[in-house]
This record gives sequence, C-alpha cells and structure tokens, in this order.
Amino acid sequence: MIQSTMMSYELTLTHFLDRAERYFRNTEIVSRMPDKTLHRYTYQIFVKRAKQLAGALAKAGLKPGDRVATLMWNHYAHLEAYFGIPAQGGVMHTLNLRLPPKEIAYIANHAQDRFLIIDDVLLPLLKTFEADAKFERVFVVPLTGQPVDTSSGYENYENFLESGYGSYTPVHIHENDPAAMCYTSGTTGRPKGVVYSHRALVLHSLVEVMQDALNLSNRDTVCPVVPMFHVNSWGIPFAATMVGAKQVYPGPHLDPESLLDLYSAEGVTVTAGVPTIWLGIAQALEKQPNTWNVSGLRMAVGGAAMPEGVMRRLESQGCVVLHAWGMTETSPLGSAAFIKRTLADRSEDDVYTWKAKQGIAVPFVDVRITREDGEAPWDGQTMGELEVRGPWIAGAYYDMPDAVTSFTEDGWFRTGDIATIDEEGYIEIKDRSKDLIKSGGEWISSVALENALMGHEAVAEAAVVAIPDPKWQERPLAAVVLKPGASATVEELAAILSDHFPKWYVPEHIVFVDEIPKTSTGKFMKAQLRERFRDIAGSDQPAAMP
Ligand code: ADP
Repeated sequence: MIQSTMMSYELTLTHFLDRAERYFRNTEIVSRMPDKTLHRYTYQIFVKRAKQLAGALAKAGLKPGDRVATLMWNHYAHLEAYFGIPAQGGVMHTLNLRLPPKEIAYIANHAQDRFLIIDDVLLPLLKTFEADAKFERVFVVPLTGQPVDTSSGYENYENFLESGYGSYTPVHIHENDPAAMCYTSGTTGRPKGVVYSHRALVLHSLVEVMQDALNLSNRDTVCPVVPMFHVNSWGIPFAATMVGAKQVYPGPHLDPESLLDLYSAEGVTVTAGVPTIWLGIAQALEKQPNTWNVSGLRMAVGGAAMPEGVMRRLESQGCVVLHAWGMTETSPLGSAAFIKRTLADRSEDDVYTWKAKQGIAVPFVDVRITREDGEAPWDGQTMGELEVRGPWIAGAYYDMPDAVTSFTEDGWFRTGDIATIDEEGYIEIKDRSKDLIKSGGEWISSVALENALMGHEAVAEAAVVAIPDPKWQERPLAAVVLKPGASATVEELAAILSDHFPKWYVPEHIVFVDEIPKTSTGKFMKAQLRERFRDIAGSDQPAAMP
C-alpha cells in the first residue's frame, strides 16, 4: 500500500502571526478610538505587541487551555488578544458587552475565565457585575489616554505588555488545541459555549477568503463592523491577518455616518455586519446623496436574513452585497450566496432571488434538511431543519451535557433553522424553528413576510411574530417601523403582502411601532414582540395602532 509522502504540519494561528511579521510588516491596522481619533500602527508593531502579550501571559502563569476573557470594542488591542492569547496556548474568550451584566457574569464563570482584558471605557460595565465574576487579574486598555485607576486592583494593559518584553518563546501547539471560545448570544435560549480549535480557525480562514466567499485578499482594506465578540467578528480578523489585508476597526462608533466616513477616509473595500447595520447605511446614503462614494464596496451580510429590497437599494448605490449564513456553532461561515456561472445569464430578478437566499455551502461544509420522515428533497419547496457538519462546525457544547439533542446520532449539528434547499443547492432560511408561525397545520415564514414589507419604500424595519390564535393555533403579526417622514396605511401594506403570498399568509394584525427591539447582536428580538402583542387577538385593540 503506497503512503502519502507529504509532511505533517500543524495548522495553528501562530503561523499567521509569523507570516504577517515576515511579509506584511508595513501594512497598516487602523482603529477608531472612543474620541473618534484614529489610532494607527503597522503589522510589525501589531505582531510585536501580540507576542509581548503572549510572553506577559506566560509570566503571569497562564497554562495551556486557560481562558482569558476580553470585553472590548473592535480595535487593535482586541486583535492583539486574538493572536497573543492563543500563541501562548491560552483560549481567548470574547465576552459580549451588550448582554445584561448578570448574563456576562454567568458566561465568564461558566467558562472559568482567569484573566480579563477590558477597554477603559467599559469599566463602568465591569463594575455592575464584577462582584459575581472571579477574574484573577484585570488588564485595562487605556483607550482614552487617561491614567488607569489601579486602586481597585486593575492593572494597566500597557504595563502588562511591557512585562512581556523579550520573554515570548514559542510554545508547542497542536492544531486540535483550543484557541478561542464564544457563547451563543442566547437569542433563543440559555447561552451555550463553543470552543474553536486552531485547526478550525485556520481552515475557516482559508475558505473565508475565497472569491466565492468573502473574497478577501492582500489588496483589500477590511472593516469588520460585526463585533469582535460576535463569533470572532465572523473570523475576519484571522482571515485578514492571514492574507495581510489592511485592517480598519470602527471602535465603538457604529452609526451609519461614522462608518461611511471611515470607509471613505481609509479606502475600505470590504466590510461586514448584520442587516440592521446595512439598513441604516442604505438610509444614510439615500438621505445624503453624493456625500460618500461607496462604488465597489463589498458588504458581507449575515446573522439574520438580508431583505432583497435592501440589497437592491445598496447595490443601486454601487455596493456589492454578499449574503452569507452562519452561526456561533459554525465559526461562523456555512454558506455564501455567490451566483454560480451557470446561473449568471438568468434575469436580474432571478439573480436577486438567489442573492437573497443564504447561498450554497462553502467547501468542507455538508448540508442537509431533515423532517420527521427523513431527509427532505432539494426542491426549493420542502422545508425542514437545516443540519450541517464540517471541520469548523461544533460537535458539542462546552460543559453542557444536556445539550446533546443539538447533535444527531450520525454526527450532524442541528441548527434549529428551518430551511429549503433548491435544485441548484441554494439554501433559503425560512425561519428559526422558534420563530416559524404554525398556522392551521401550515408553516408561515416570518422572514418571507418581513422581506416583502421591507421592500416597501416607506418601511424602515418590519418584524413578524406568531401570536396565539384560538382557531388557527398561531397567526402572524407584523410590527412595522416607518421611515422618518414616510407614511403607509395598514391596507396598503396588507395589499402588498396579498400580491406576494396566499391569503392565509397575510397577517390580520399589522401594527406600527417606534422601533423593533434588538438583541445584543443587532437582531430583531422577537420574544419581546411576541410577549408585547400576545393578547392582541382577544383584545378590543384595533388591528393597526398608528
Ligand atoms: P444567536 O443564536 O444568539 O442569534 P448566532 O449569531 O450564532 O447567535 O445566530 C445564528 C443564527 O442566525 C442562525 O441560526 C440563523 O437563524 C441566523 N442567521 C445567520 N445568518 C443568517 C442569514 N444570512 N439569513 C437568515 N438567518 C441567518
């Protein structure tokens, strides 16, 4: 039997760091500070500091597999943590600063985080939960330039880095060793921890940069808007460092105008975020035409469904939108909606239909949809639960034995997403199983109704949720936010839906609200809407509440 003659070579993140040091020394990493000034340094300094962090952690007694938490916005010091902690065999654990403090404490305790690196501007948040958390040491990044108050036992991150000067010695890391961890943001239940290996993050980076995925190269300037605590900013900091792209981090300034200014000032070519960010950007571009040139700007969007209407609006301004699907459990990239060459000559409407789907699985990710009676056909019609497997898909949750039901006996991860897959292989997420509206034995996709409503020019945002119904079990309710100064009637919106969908799809209740509540990662918080409107069917309230 012939053997392969290839070397065995560990796939670890330290390779990215060494590579960046060797080849991309002079490329910039730019970060927006809380006072809106720009902090800039080169990869050369970044790698030096990341290694110093690794050395400092070693001196502080970090053992392989120890967790180091971060509570930070998107900026250079967070990137240093992304690489410095795993370089020393530690596990970088990003805490979500938008979660309720009690939940942050629960997550930090569950993960047994030893150390914490935190932005000085976030210390007030730490104060609200530190009594419940057990960090051994807290390192404060002086983003504002103000002296760090060490009286509470906090230490200045810069001094800590100094302590690591010259002391970094590469440690042996196996590719299956843990490098990072992240908890699901709990949109649909208790947060669950996922631990990423070096290998998973390396392979994910290699696939993420593909032209048929995020299309990232050394020539790009990348601005991840998606927080670095939301599935490692979708892995972009790792992938961008691998290719040596210029990296631009927005810090805490995520409003559309600030982002658009930053894109223009730094020549950003690729950016990434959830649909609510792009809704805001679309509105800003329309409100202030000729202010920003976004021609050719590639926008990766995921985390929730991107309405086709918003995609069209952005592309009419010159942006190129890439819709992708993923989860905390999938590192996150699972599928991307590029248009296959065999579909390129279809009508514009057809092409947009595919672009608005969640795309085809990226290499090494297997997908299937299952129903109670087995695997569903790829006909674009039959809905079932999306199941996935692959080298960067979680096979278990961290220390959560009762979560085994998320995995099938034959080794697939059950996503909890209800989807169809069409003959061409494009996945369409119809809903999270908890958000699907079960009406009279039929399933109504809240996402489909939302997309149609958000296609109306007066609608800024729309979320559709199930409300209990004595006859049909559940019926849809649409909560709609109108654009400032715009008007639309319930009848008008209902008529649009009647044009697109069978009659029983159309909600009896369309209500106007001031805003849709959002989760910590910017998704519609449907549980809150369901709670707010659950009694509307039986009440005397009018169907529309202008
Ligand atoms: P959380 O579970 O707390 O929301 P995640 O960010 O891991 O945290 O969410 C993953 C979920 O987001 C997926 O299961 C899916 O329901 C949704 N999602 C992600 N990308 C898309 C997309 N492009 N279209 C529709 N839904 C998406």
